[in-house]
Amino acid sequence: MYKSGGCNCGSVRYKLLAEPLFTHICHCKECQRDSGGAFNVSTLVLVDDFKFDNCTPDTHIVSRPSGNEYEVWGCDKCGCTLAGLSVPPTKQMVVLQGTFDDTSDLDPQAHIWTKEKQNWVKIPDNLPSFEEYYDPVQVWPKSSLNRVYDT
Ligand SMILES: [Zn+2]
Ligand SMILES: [Zn+2]
Repeated sequence: MYKSGGCNCGSVRYKLLAEPLFTHICHCKECQRDSGGAFNVSTLVLVDDFKFDNCTPDTHIVSRPSGNEYEVWGCDKCGCTLAGLSVPPTKQMVVLQGTFDDTSDLDPQAHIWTKEKQNWVKIPDNLPSFEEYYDPVQVWPKSSLNRVYDT
């Protein structure tokens, strides 16, 4: 196992079996509403590496303005949102970074949707940042690309 995580009340717990692919910060307005804060910190992982620990998450389907739909998993007791994936699923999914028990080695690697960011958020110079989304081929480490895309 690479990492564990879960919700605030402990009813929903998960395991991540291998290293994540990438961690980015999304400043889009939907993420601001989702988090109730200024952004979401999203860790992208392989769907095959993510397992719930003998528990059933609360599931709902959300539609984004882009037209994309996502299945979002959370806890119906404490209301935490934990993770989500595209509908229909792809090989990768998102885990909300703050739900990992230990985030000490999950530093963000890029900022996205900066055109919708809150004015007081300052993007550091040392990370790639994008007004909207990015092309993973140009941003992710090759080792992560090789796990998702057949090259
Ligand atoms: Zn909970
Ligand atoms: Zn977003």
